[in-house]
Amino acid sequence: MLSVDAENRVFEGGFVAIEDGRISGVGPKADTPNPSGFDEVLDLTGHLVMPGLVNAHTHSVMVLFRGRSEGQSLLTMAGWYNSIREPELSLEASDIGPSVALSCAEMALSGTTTFCDQYFYAEEIADAVKQAGLRAVIAYGIVQLGDERRGEEELRKATAFLEQQRSSDGRVIPWFGPHAPYVDNTEALLIDEVAVANKYGVGLHLHMACGPEDNEETQRRYGITAAVALERLGFFKGRIHAAHCIDLSDEDIAVFARAPHASVSYNASAGLRSGRKGMCPAVALRAAGVTVALGTDNVAANNSYDMVSEMRVAGLVASHRERMAQPLSSRELVRMATIEGAKALGLEHEIGSLEVGKAADIAAFDLRGAGYSETPDPETLLVYSGSGRDLRHLWVSGEQLVADRQLTRIPYDTIRREYSATYQEFWNRVAAAKSMVEQTNNREVA
Ligand SMILES: [Zn+2]
Repeated sequence: MLSVDAENRVFEGGFVAIEDGRISGVGPKADTPNPSGFDEVLDLTGHLVMPGLVNAHTHSVMVLFRGRSEGQSLLTMAGWYNSIREPELSLEASDIGPSVALSCAEMALSGTTTFCDQYFYAEEIADAVKQAGLRAVIAYGIVQLGDERRGEEELRKATAFLEQQRSSDGRVIPWFGPHAPYVDNTEALLIDEVAVANKYGVGLHLHMACGPEDNEETQRRYGITAAVALERLGFFKGRIHAAHCIDLSDEDIAVFARAPHASVSYNASAGLRSGRKGMCPAVALRAAGVTVALGTDNVAANNSYDMVSEMRVAGLVASHRERMAQPLSSRELVRMATIEGAKALGLEHEIGSLEVGKAADIAAFDLRGAGYSETPDPETLLVYSGSGRDLRHLWVSGEQLVADRQLTRIPYDTIRREYSATYQEFWNRVAAAKSMVEQTNNREVA
C-alpha cells in the first residue's frame, strides 16, 4: 500500500480503514484494527492500494471527438479550429450528459477519482459528474475568438455557474477558465475574468504556452510573454493552474515560482501527439518549487484517460528531454498523479494521500495478473509495468464506485449505449450543418 504521505510510507500488507467517508486509520499489518468493528472487510492481498489518481487537465465532453482529429496538431490554432471548434458549434446541451458520463466511467475504471475539467456547458458537466460520483474541479471555459458579444455573454454564464455551484456537495468544485489567454480571449475580457475569479475566490484553469500563437500578441504589444503579461494583470495573485506550458522561458518559470498558488498540468501524451517542438519543462519547474501535476488532456489529443499510462509517458518524456535516466523517479511520478494534483487544485488537505482524516478516495489495482512480478519497488511496478485497466476497486469519499471492475451506480453498458446514440446524433448534426454551409456557399458562387 502506498500512503503517498509526506514520508512516502509504503506498507506491505497494510490496512486502510474507512468511516463516514473518511480515512479513520492507515498503517502496517500489525496495527490492523479488529475487523468486528466494521460493516465490511475486504482482503486486498495481491493488490496495490493507493490514493485515487488526479487527472489535472481534461475536457470530458470532448470524448465525442476521439479519433476525429488524427493528423492535426491540437496545440496549434489551425489544428484545433479545423478539427474541434467547427464541429463544436453543433453541440447541444443534451449531448453533454452522456459524453461526460462515458468519460467519468473510463476515468473511474482506470483509477482516477478526481479530475480537472475545462469547457463550456459547465452546468451540464457538473450534473453528469454528480451522477457519476467522481470529484471534479469544473472550470467554466470561455472561448471568445474575436466575438466581443460572445465574450460578455459567456462571462455572464460563467458567473451564474459560480453562483449556482457555490453550495454544492464538495465533490464538484466550480472554477473559472479563460480557454487560451491572448489567443481566443482578449486582454479586456481577461481583466474582467480575473475580477470575477477574485470576487468568488475561485481558481483559474487555463491553457498556457501551448502553441506558437500563445506569446505572439504580448510580444508584439509589450515585448513580453503571455505569462508575464498575465502576472501584470493579477492572474498569479490567486490560485492559477495552467495546462501544457510547453514553451516556458526561464522568466516564465520564475513567474510560476514566485506566485503563491500557481501550478502546471504536464500533459506529456498530448504534447507528444501534437508534434509541437519542445515539451513542458517539468523537471525545471519542480526544481524551482512549482507544483507540477499530470493530465491526459482531452481524449481527442491523447486518446485515453489512463493515468497510469500518463505517468509512464510523463517519465519517459522527461528522461528524453533531460537526456538522463529518470530525472523524475517513479515515486515522484506517483506523487505528481496524486498529492501534487490535489495541491494544484487546492485540495491537498482533503485528498491525494492515504492519511487519517482525509476523504476516502482510494484506488486498488490488481497486480496478480500477467505483467507483474516480484520487485522491491511497487511504484516502478505500477508506472512502468502497469495499466489503468488493472484497476479493480475504487472509492470516492468512502463510496465504492467500482467494485470488482464494475461500476456500481450505473452499469457501463447503459452508459455506453446512451453515449453511442448521442455520438451518432451529434455527428449527424455536424454533417447537416456542414452541408448547409456548402449549399449556401455554392449559391453565393452561382
Ligand atoms: Zn486542454
